[in-house]
Amino acid sequence: GPDSPTPSDPDKRDAALVRQLVHCFGEAADSPTGIATANWRHDTATTPPAGPKPGPHTPPDPAPVLRRPHWDGRLHVAAAETAADHPGYLDGAIEAGRRVASALA
Ligand SMILES: Cc1cc2nc3c(=O)[nH]c(=O)nc-3n(C[C@H](O)[C@H](O)[C@H](O)COP(=O)(O)OP(=O)(O)OC[C@H]3O[C@@H](n4cnc5c(N)ncnc54)[C@H](O)[C@@H]3O)c2cc1C
Repeated sequence: GPDSPTPSDPDKRDAALVRQLVHCFGEAADSPTGIATANWRHDTATTPPAGPKPGPHTPPDPAPVLRRPHWDGRLHVAAAETAADHPGYLDGAIEAGRRVASALA
């Protein structure tokens, strides 16, 4: 909606982003050379196309490959967005953190 902190209109969203950057970093951040955005729930690397219809907030069913260790166990991804339950939320962050902590223990 018009009062949403993250407007769906790309121009309004970019303007809100620049306002926030100026708030954090000052006037030097007022004229970025470019803005690139990505939506993980539209990215097949994080949201399999055969999964359920995307909800409003998160990847609803993150690809299991994100929960597996890589590089012979030297790379683990513990972000909330990898969680099987509540991806993209604090519960998901805790699940992901516990999974990787127990893998490293
Ligand atoms: C505005 C907002 C509102 C939210 N409201 C809710 C809510 O009401 N309920 C809910 O459950 N969830 C909410 N969430 C989501 C929740 O906050 C996140 O899902 C959760 O914090 C993600 O945890 P994380 O550990 O995966 O990642 P993060 O908390 O993002 O942690 C990543 C950490 O990595 C650090 N980092 C990044 N790059 C590097 C680097 N190169 N080197 C070293 N460190 C690095 C960052 O500084 C950060 O500390 C909200 C999120 C936002 C943005």
